[in-house]
Amino acid sequence: MIHILGGGLAGSEAAWQAASLGVRVVIHEMRPVRPTPVHKTDRLAELVCSNSFRGDKIDNAVGLLKEEMRRLGSLVMRTADEHRVPAGVALAVDRERFSQAITDAIRLHPLISVAREEVARVPTDASMFPLIIATGPLTSDSLSADIAALIGGEQLYFYDAISPIVLAETIDMTKVFRASRWDRSVRGSAPLTPACGVDGGQGDYLNCPLTREEYDRFYDALTVAESATVHDFDKVKFFEGCLPIEVMAHRGRDTLRFGPMKPVGLVDPRAGRPPYAAVQLRQDDLAGDHFSLVGFQTQLKWGEQARVLALIPGLEGAEFVRFGMVHRNTYINGPTVLRETWQTKARDDLFFAGQISGVEGYVESAASGLIAGRNAAALVRGEEPRVPPRTTAIGALAYYVSHADPRNYQPTNITFGIVAPVLDSARAAVSDGRTAPEPDPKPFDNARGKKRRDRKLAISERALRALDDWMGADLKVGPYTGKAVG
Ligand SMILES: Cc1cc2nc3c(=O)[nH]c(=O)nc-3n(C[C@H](O)[C@H](O)[C@H](O)COP(=O)(O)OP(=O)(O)OC[C@H]3O[C@@H](n4cnc5c(N)ncnc54)[C@H](O)[C@@H]3O)c2cc1C
Repeated sequence: MIHILGGGLAGSEAAWQAASLGVRVVIHEMRPVRPTPVHKTDRLAELVCSNSFRGDKIDNAVGLLKEEMRRLGSLVMRTADEHRVPAGVALAVDRERFSQAITDAIRLHPLISVAREEVARVPTDASMFPLIIATGPLTSDSLSADIAALIGGEQLYFYDAISPIVLAETIDMTKVFRASRWDRSVRGSAPLTPACGVDGGQGDYLNCPLTREEYDRFYDALTVAESATVHDFDKVKFFEGCLPIEVMAHRGRDTLRFGPMKPVGLVDPRAGRPPYAAVQLRQDDLAGDHFSLVGFQTQLKWGEQARVLALIPGLEGAEFVRFGMVHRNTYINGPTVLRETWQTKARDDLFFAGQISGVEGYVESAASGLIAGRNAAALVRGEEPRVPPRTTAIGALAYYVSHADPRNYQPTNITFGIVAPVLDSARAAVSDGRTAPEPDPKPFDNARGKKRRDRKLAISERALRALDDWMGADLKVGPYTGKAVG
């Protein structure tokens, strides 16, 4: 038998997977006995905010992740597909029917039972293991404190201040320049191509320079832009170190110019002097496909972020990989605590899954529960825990959570930036050191857009082949056949 703390997206998926492999499961869910600040019902897998599972085509990373989950017999995906509502290329659901259907599927499964209780401490009784902790971003206070004691207080975070991330290919490189403040760079001495932004010397950052007029226009738009709904728990005072940019802006016209938009130590090579203000973009993944806006955490509505940030020179046509957020989020430092199998490093039979394990988003939370549930069941069945290859989206997520840089760990959505790239022959030659890199074609041309889409499709097609190979006939989760193990 396995025990799962939390009947959210991750916990429900984990339970379904384990039970589908013939293993008995108990889910411990505290609602309705103890509510959270955002859940509104006592249903399992309640969607706390948007009703969207985001893109549903495989030229998009979350579309690929969903397709992989379908192939792995995901309850969350099957139910989402059954209760979808029109949403263009995205998969959105009727939230009431979705969570009711998951609750019913779990309730009717002969191998799963649900105990409605708060688990206030990490269990120590051997009969509670294998144990999956999937209590989400709003894990109750007492359990959070006990988890902190177990893994080390500095490995558990309670707040997330996230800056937006843009796709490098969509930055207008003719307007930005590469430089580090005061020329303090950790880059090597490789020459920079114009495609990397006008060369302002060696530098780790792309800098978007603003004139006084551009700054004023940006400032005026920012101070009237609409913020996302603030939940009660978010009304707490923000840490001074991670104030949303709109909050800083309301303190005065120049606050941002002395904060995240300060131009000091930067010289715009075109003008030969510091700009009036500057936004710094920092490389966010190894491949250099993503850049985050430094110090730009924000609570603006996503549409408003797209509109206001497009006023920054260089970002007029930028595509956002992730929007900024500031919200309560309990999560562990995955790379310090977890293995790729979602088991803890300290204990084979203790797993974390869902948002608390250091992923971000409904689909990603359910995906982590899917693998954790299978692997906890594997232990009961006397089998080795396994993870799909890194070339798949679900394998890449597991790798990121367990292998990213622990010093600066941030929960992630699935993106192609964390999936191993497909190298075409020219790229392979460069990566082998056989030829020098060609400058990329000009941004915003159609051929470039098509090439980017083809590259994503190539990654997805390779991922699905790799997943099918990995699954083999025996690993496919089919309908429950009635044989219980453990
Ligand atoms: C305010 C907010 C808005 C969000 N909006 C979105 C969004 O729009 N789109 C998106 O993709 N992601 C969103 N997320 C992020 C995340 O995807 C969701 O929080 C998602 O529900 C996480 O799934 P989970 O299974 O990890 O946690 P949850 O779905 O929260 O499930 C955890 C469960 O554990 C229970 N629990 C907690 N403590 C205990 C305890 N001690 N004992 C027993 N049970 C316990 C809770 O009641 C809950 O049912 C949001 C997060 C927050 C906080």
